[in-house]
Amino acid sequence: MNTTVQMTSIADATISQSVGGPPPEFIAFMVFWGILGLSSFLFFHFNHNATLKRNVFPVFIILIGVIFGGFVYYIMGRQHPQVLLPLVPALIVISFLNIRTTRFCDACGKTLYRQPIFTRTQYCSHCGSELK
Ligand SMILES: [Zn+2]
Repeated sequence: MNTTVQMTSIADATISQSVGGPPPEFIAFMVFWGILGLSSFLFFHFNHNATLKRNVFPVFIILIGVIFGGFVYYIMGRQHPQVLLPLVPALIVISFLNIRTTRFCDACGKTLYRQPIFTRTQYCSHCGSELK
């Protein structure tokens, strides 16, 4: 089976499931995902306890990856387990990069996203303190 055939069968499965609107579990997941996204944004934006956030963040990111992977598996992976082949490594890389590039400032408590990966000596863009 070549890649084109695989992609077509995945698309067919997606289309056949969406006849008559998206399945209820898909809508439920989107609502859940939205609430999760909003509450995590509020927490990481407004909570200024850097130590707490530093502890919570990796757990949160891994949890998000597992939930997302589980959902894709639930929707497509049962008929097409081959979707997990690119999905699982991609989720691992994305989670790792997310954890690695997010820093927390002890001085002002800000969450600093998209920081350089390879330089560890960094200064907070909000207050200028050195990041540990
Ligand atoms: Zn700061």
